[in-house]
Amino acid sequence: MEDCIFCKIIEGKVPSAKIYEDERVLSFLDIAPANKGHCLVIPKNHSRNLSEMDDKDAEASIRAARKVAKALSLGLGCSGFNLVMSNGIEAGQVVFHSHIHVIPRFKNDGLKIKWPHIKYTESEIKEYAEKLKKFL
Ligand code: 5GP
Ligand code: ZN
Repeated sequence: MEDCIFCKIIEGKVPSAKIYEDERVLSFLDIAPANKGHCLVIPKNHSRNLSEMDDKDAEASIRAARKVAKALSLGLGCSGFNLVMSNGIEAGQVVFHSHIHVIPRFKNDGLKIKWPHIKYTESEIKEYAEKLKKFL
């Protein structure tokens, strides 16, 4: 894809600190990390987000994210990690080539990846479940 920064990283036209590669995916350090060691895992086939990604790329991406998380634990000594994936502008996606963030977490690192919790009425929660079950 022309003008896709992550496709350019895959092609080697833009430099990156690569840490892992296989036939389907690439992982490299995020240039502006939430915590040092923050990595991105991207499929080599361009897709805009998880909905567009094919199943094999999705499987390969989550497998690689697990490997990267293990390396963060062994290599950096993090005690936890967050997997974050923003899909769509409203979800905060900025780069429109699918990517999973793997963010190492350390005790008292002060990083907040939290959202507020709102409430359903009793009937509403069943309605929402029904709306979704139809498509699953
Ligand atoms: P998004 O907000 O779309 O989920 O995340 C995009 C991420 O890509 C951001 O965390 C940003 O720092 C990272 N990023 C954007 N451009 C580059 C780049 O050229 N190289 C690297 N390594 N990371 C980038
Ligand atoms: Zn791309």
